[in-house]
Amino acid sequence: MEAKPFSDISYEQFLNEEKLMGSRCKKCGALYVPPRAICIKCYGSDMEWVEMKGKGKLAAFTVISIGPPFMIEEGYDRKNPYCSGVVELEEGARVDARVEGVDTTKPETIKIGTPVAVEFLHRGEGEKMRTFLAFKAS
Ligand SMILES: [Zn+2]
Repeated sequence: MEAKPFSDISYEQFLNEEKLMGSRCKKCGALYVPPRAICIKCYGSDMEWVEMKGKGKLAAFTVISIGPPFMIEEGYDRKNPYCSGVVELEEGARVDARVEGVDTTKPETIKIGTPVAVEFLHRGEGEKMRTFLAFKAS
């Protein structure tokens, strides 16, 4: 596992295995999710994999009515918008993810600071399987 490069491809492979992984700079302790190979704080390149517990708080969100084609295929549109957000993980890193369990038809009811827990949304089969990171309001 430690041999995997600190790349988006590795990150997505871990998501397929239902693991939310980030990289931590061994020099200054900065944490990145998705992982970075080079620390943007100290420019160190000595990174290690860290698995996130998958709990956090909603830090920002947007309700999207017109999404990319794969979201339209899933049935999201103006009448059924979806929520995209930024989650601040307990470990301190911030990650972009889909937000589930909120009423997207009433965005005013969605609150910053809501506790959320990770969910892995698998789409497609076998080689074509992709996993989307989501967080569900608890
Ligand atoms: Zn660093």
